[in-house]
Amino acid sequence: MIAPTALFALDTLLTEEEREIRSTVRRVCDREIRPHVAGWFEAGELPARELARTLGSVGVLGMHLDGYGCAGLGAVSYGLACLELEAADSGLRSLVSVQGSLAMYAIWKYGSEEQKQEWLPAMAAGERIGCFGLTEPDFGSDPGGMRTTAKREGGDWVLNGTKLWITNGSVSDVAVVWARTDEGVRGFLVPAGTPGFTVNDVKHKISLRASVTSELVLDGVRLPAEAILPGARGLSGPLGCLNEARFGIVFGAMGAALDCLETAIAYAADREVFAKPLSSYQLTQEKLADMALELGKGLLLAVHLGRLKEAGTLTPEQVSAGKLNNVREALEIARKCRTLLGASGITLEYPVIRHSVNLESVLTYEGTSEIHSLVIGKALTGIAAFK
Ligand SMILES: Cc1cc2nc3c(=O)[nH]c(=O)nc-3n(C[C@H](O)[C@H](O)[C@H](O)COP(=O)(O)OP(=O)(O)OC[C@H]3O[C@@H](n4cnc5c(N)ncnc54)[C@H](O)[C@@H]3O)c2cc1C
Repeated sequence: MIAPTALFALDTLLTEEEREIRSTVRRVCDREIRPHVAGWFEAGELPARELARTLGSVGVLGMHLDGYGCAGLGAVSYGLACLELEAADSGLRSLVSVQGSLAMYAIWKYGSEEQKQEWLPAMAAGERIGCFGLTEPDFGSDPGGMRTTAKREGGDWVLNGTKLWITNGSVSDVAVVWARTDEGVRGFLVPAGTPGFTVNDVKHKISLRASVTSELVLDGVRLPAEAILPGARGLSGPLGCLNEARFGIVFGAMGAALDCLETAIAYAADREVFAKPLSSYQLTQEKLADMALELGKGLLLAVHLGRLKEAGTLTPEQVSAGKLNNVREALEIARKCRTLLGASGITLEYPVIRHSVNLESVLTYEGTSEIHSLVIGKALTGIAAFK
């Protein structure tokens, strides 16, 4: 027997350092996350602060950024960390993606030197948590329609509006909030506890239950002039951050799929049906083979996109292709694995149904599958079909 990833000799594409980083993150997940995550999911609670400190101590928060306490590692290393985290739970990978690729990246890329010094080292260490508020109740796929405004009053900015579906919202020390101004969309750093800024958690989720999802309400929030991100002008600011986070998902989704497939292979070996192991039936082997193929192709694509990112040539369309393909296939793999587990597959005793329902969120956030199809369609035809 070989591991599903061995079928494609994936490790031959990785450096020793990359393999070590993968092992380190896997060890942390095995020790700190896997034993508890089904319980957190069931309770709909996450010890986010403790986890952020643990993940910060091994250097995964903002690990692909340079300086300010960040490790400055390559894209493939970052992707492999996302893969291991999402093999534990998509909610954990979401915490890390939002912290590193959305909140920290926004500050790192567009922030002033003072903002970087104030926030990045503490966020890299996991002592402070950030969130990223772009989506609103009426504008998700079309963030250009946002209603949140920031108006100048003397030397200050005053923000009004509501953001919804914001990962890490209620556990954040700082929110990166995107708002409409007279000069187009701009980003602002809103510290937790600023008067007029309230955060309410989204309840009754069936997906990503081991992740904090919140509403941010900004009611006359007054911020000093230096709260604006000086380097971000227009929607390209938030979209640049989303491109970073989507890249992590290309790897992460394959982590969830790998965990499902490994679980199903072990289950099918143990489970006897009609007096023989489930894994000895041709129908089962066809399912396993098909899933191993999609997993391997998705991983090859992820590593390829990672190398393009490291070379500085990765385009947004290529990230869309990776996100669309890998999340869609991961979801198919999770569903197919669930069938192999039979009734046991619907319980939290096994990770498969948890991954499956989590991946429903992953299919929708960071650009829905439909929006990524439209991005690819535009690249292929030259015609934008969004409107
Ligand atoms: C668990 C979770 C965490 C999230 N975390 C964050 C976060 O941290 N920060 C943040 O800002 N946002 C976050 N989001 C929001 C997420 O990015 C949005 O949900 C997503 O962009 C889709 O927006 P929507 O839900 O408003 O759906 P809509 O935009 O209303 O889309 C509804 C449907 O219409 C389709 N559609 C839209 N436009 C078109 C079109 N032109 N042609 C064809 N079909 C179309 C969509 O693909 C979808 O199928 C999160 C969401 C979830 C579920």
